[in-house]
Amino acid sequence: MRNMKQLGMSVVLVAAGVVIGVYFSNQPNELPSVTKTAEAAGGKVKSPTATAPDRYVYYPGTEELKKDEIRVVCCGSGLPAARRGQAATCFLIECGNGEKILFDIGTGSMANIASLMIPYQYLDKVFLSHLHTDHWGDLDGLWAGGWTAGRPDKLQVWGPSGATEEMGTKYAIDHFIKANNWDYQTRAYKINPLPGQIDVHEFDYKGENIKVYDDNGIVIRSFPAIHAGDGPVSYSLEYAGLKIVFGGDTYPNKWFQEYAQDADLVIHECMPTPEQLRKYYNQPPQLAWRASGAFHTSPPAFGKVMSMVNPRHAVAYHFFNEEGTRYEIHEQIRTTYDGPLSMAMDMMVWNVTKDSIVERMGVSTDEAWSVPGSARQLPPERGRPDVMTDAIRAGELKKEIFDAQGKMMREFWKKYDVPLSPEVKKAYGVE
Ligand SMILES: [Zn+2]
Ligand SMILES: [Zn+2]
Repeated sequence: MRNMKQLGMSVVLVAAGVVIGVYFSNQPNELPSVTKTAEAAGGKVKSPTATAPDRYVYYPGTEELKKDEIRVVCCGSGLPAARRGQAATCFLIECGNGEKILFDIGTGSMANIASLMIPYQYLDKVFLSHLHTDHWGDLDGLWAGGWTAGRPDKLQVWGPSGATEEMGTKYAIDHFIKANNWDYQTRAYKINPLPGQIDVHEFDYKGENIKVYDDNGIVIRSFPAIHAGDGPVSYSLEYAGLKIVFGGDTYPNKWFQEYAQDADLVIHECMPTPEQLRKYYNQPPQLAWRASGAFHTSPPAFGKVMSMVNPRHAVAYHFFNEEGTRYEIHEQIRTTYDGPLSMAMDMMVWNVTKDSIVERMGVSTDEAWSVPGSARQLPPERGRPDVMTDAIRAGELKKEIFDAQGKMMREFWKKYDVPLSPEVKKAYGVE
């Protein structure tokens, strides 16, 4: 037990990004009563088992967006080296009209996206900032996983061209499909080929503030980023008079300074300090300083960018965010920027309206399943040739397995009135 004389009680409410602290004196004989505490907090306790009135968390699937609201979910905030607690770059933008846009889909991010339990039907638009795998390495999880989990249509991927054809997004996606040919051909036979296809929308990486998307009240523009080679871009998204900017990876540049100006939420990379990259990431000093501040953006450089573009709210990502690193990074950012700031972590969520920008943490399950949308996948394509030969199928332990699973299968078929081929009917003794 703590010494009663030292007992202070504070109630902290976090609402609309405002922190209100209520502190009760710790004078002896002046202990706060529970009633007083609740009154001071403005809470009216209806029931001990009722919902908490103000929550500093977002439970996916429980909040309808207002028409003129945008919700941004960070589904990846880290670095190319994988870690269980932090995926690589991915930001989901959900607009009040129901449209959902993914900005990058970096290594490991798909598990976070899936934990939001959004029907895959609505997760079909991906905008890639560049082709480093920490920005698109989990496309396979959305492509194949979403295909098996009910996405009815093709994936749509937008991304920049490159200095040559082989350095562009179209080349990358065409070869992604080629590399995954076995996956594609086998699923295309078993399920339906359509959701396994990807439409690529490649645009000029040199385009300055060019419109790359304009549909249903959402306009997305692209402008060049400066990072590692020709090709990377930054995006702005405008909806309902709000503007979200996603920088991708970039050294601070004139285009960002111009086109991110005065945006509502500005998401820009912020690398660890050179010392952190040397000490924790095992990079030699000559690589560490360049990775932090020559082809990326260091913490003080991030702050400088934000001071120049003056967003309503700034978001720093692309660093391992933990006790050992975040204070130094924050301190370095604050040498050049004193405005509103989030140090992004996976599952951090921002609700953006004209009136407020609220940062919260999303709380979601580790054991998510897919949920149905409004449209159904088409059935398997008739006449498509099987990609398995009889020579391999001849090895199936048919008799034993018919006996083992026959009861379960017959019940299932009956319950859902599943159409069966004459061969299956005969093998399982179904009338
Ligand atoms: Zn990169
Ligand atoms: Zn990156």
